[in-house]
Amino acid sequence: MAAAPIYLDHQATTPCDPAVVEAMAPLWGEDFANPSSRGHRPGLRAALLVDQARESLAAALAIPPHTLVFTSGATEANNLAIKGLCEARLAKGRHVITVATEHRAVLDPCRYLERLGFSLTVLPVAADGLLDPAQLEAAMGPSTVLVSVMAANNEIGVLQPLEAIAAICRRHGAAFHCDAAQLVGHQLIKPLELGIDLFSFSGHKFYGPKGIGALVVAEDLELAAQIHGGGQEGGRRSGSLSTPLIVGLATALDLALADALSRAQRLGQLRDQLWSGLEQLGGICLNGALKPRLAHNLNVSVAGVDGSRLHSGLRRGLAVSGGSACSSASGEPSHVLIALGRSRQEAAASVRFGLGRSTTEEQIKETLAFINQLLAKLR
Ligand SMILES: *Cc1c(COP(=O)(O)O)cnc(C)c1O
Repeated sequence: MAAAPIYLDHQATTPCDPAVVEAMAPLWGEDFANPSSRGHRPGLRAALLVDQARESLAAALAIPPHTLVFTSGATEANNLAIKGLCEARLAKGRHVITVATEHRAVLDPCRYLERLGFSLTVLPVAADGLLDPAQLEAAMGPSTVLVSVMAANNEIGVLQPLEAIAAICRRHGAAFHCDAAQLVGHQLIKPLELGIDLFSFSGHKFYGPKGIGALVVAEDLELAAQIHGGGQEGGRRSGSLSTPLIVGLATALDLALADALSRAQRLGQLRDQLWSGLEQLGGICLNGALKPRLAHNLNVSVAGVDGSRLHSGLRRGLAVSGGSACSSASGEPSHVLIALGRSRQEAAASVRFGLGRSTTEEQIKETLAFINQLLAKLR
């Protein structure tokens, strides 16, 4: 096995595309002006670059440019969407609905609102990880102001039924927030045409830079700012805009969408090859539906081995994770796998494989051989 581990953790983050690094390069040094400094030429030039990036992102998502609010990433976009919408609709109602398998960056803002006196419904998912729209329909009430359901799960890759959810929200007059951090750049999506009111995404999940993302806010939707200051982004998110990161975000989305279809096709084949190889080893079960699912994700539980021994063995050859990158620090078993009905032990002995641009067929074969050897030792 090669010294460098095979990187199969593209749901945690992706490497920044060299063309994106190149597009950002002059903006850290020479072209450093603040895009809000519209009183001089360097500032106007920076403003033009931000405008062009905004237009390019808007075209890719089929949204009006002014509906885009730049943030530091999907965590901040989710916080702005959830807290900002609820604060703006305080007089209308105080009930929020979300799903047990959401990212912590959705669940924790919702729990924060619950501590402030909101009522929170956390819907379960079926064993395949999918939300049943009938359960959402049943949970909706006259005081429901917000429903937050992700597009693609960051651990098990399953795709939630966004159109059905949007239709239910519209019928009940609730806003629909969707954390699409794992979907954007991997599949074409037009959030406003789908009926999504608030839509979060993040650059580093599609070969862009870390520290930049955005929230799409449907036209005329009331939203209370969560960061106050200089009034940037129409007052919805203050703070000096990062020209390099914004240009990087737009360049990355363009490049990621340019090969999204062929990438999904290629990685889907490699993922299926990985899954059929693992299945043959025996005692390995799939977490989450195989369809509908991101082509580049696989998540399995391994029977008959201890989770921590499994992962310390895996570390010697692979860069993979158990739960999400965010929850692995806590040592707690994945709340997503628990929500699918897995035991704590099964959840601990689970592996998430996130394939990406750099993944080759050779790597998948090496991965299978490595796991085969490891399990022979551990079992
Ligand atoms: C990565 C991720 C986030 C957090 O995004 P950051 O930009 O790192 O804050 C939120 N939600 C999902 C589904 C993610 O995959």
